Amino acid sequence: MIPPDHPRYRSLVTRERLAGCAKKGIVAMEGLTAHGRGEAFDYLIGERTTISGLLAEQTAAAMLISARHPVISVNGNTAALAAHEIAALQEACGALVEVNLFHRTEKRVAQIEDLLRNAGADVYSGEAERLLPLSHDRAWCRRGGMFSADVVLVPLEDGDRCEALVSLGKTVIAIDLNPLSRTARHATLTIVDELTRALPAISRACRELSAADRDRLLSTVDNHYLLSEAIHEMTARLSHALD
Ligand code: ATP
Ligand code: MG
Repeated sequence: MIPPDHPRYRSLVTRERLAGCAKKGIVAMEGLTAHGRGEAFDYLIGERTTISGLLAEQTAAAMLISARHPVISVNGNTAALAAHEIAALQEACGALVEVNLFHRTEKRVAQIEDLLRNAGADVYSGEAERLLPLSHDRAWCRRGGMFSADVVLVPLEDGDRCEALVSLGKTVIAIDLNPLSRTARHATLTIVDELTRALPAISRACRELSAADRDRLLSTVDNHYLLSEAIHEMTARLSHALD
């Protein structure tokens, strides 16, 4: 029997939750495979927040609380795994919460918005338009939401849309366990940590950072350093894996 506080137990519970949400249509089948890729990288960082991951989370908090119009973009996996954590982060940083889907149907958007509202989030659900420079469903977003945001948090975003948002001049914060993904490399700031660990850490930092901490973090943003630290962590663990 695996004890409930063990990372393996949490990962089994998470899989069950994702499978349940996939059956209801909230999580896309492709979302299940994306989760598996994330799990593999989580193994490599030791299923815990690293020092560089925490630095990225504090920097994300500094960006969100200093933003003019911050937006948290939520997809099916994020809503299934962390609806309450999204609501708590919204409360801590005042960002607008908007649902944007890769595999987009009106029904899925409505289901995910309901899930978020039931968890306490205030969801922005104005009319969506094809506004992003992308040729498929991912071009959809709302004019008063992501399109006019200066800072966008995109947990578990795909590489194309991350690049499109950066090309529009936005500060893009990604949460992605894979430091090699196109998302991780194109984002302004990448948090290489598991979603349900990263979101509460950002909320905590939003509440606790002093103005001086915030200014220091904003003046020293270095995504290349954060990614190379994550890769260093993984290679160091691998080289001692069988000790
Ligand atoms: P690219 O950015 O190159 O398009 P990709 O095709 O792997 O990469 P997607 O599948 O579109 O990206 O997005 C899923 C990403 O999210 C994966 O890189 C995966 O590592 C990461 N991921 C999945 N689940 C989690 C999680 N719970 N926490 C953090 N990251 C996760
Ligand atoms: Mg992709």
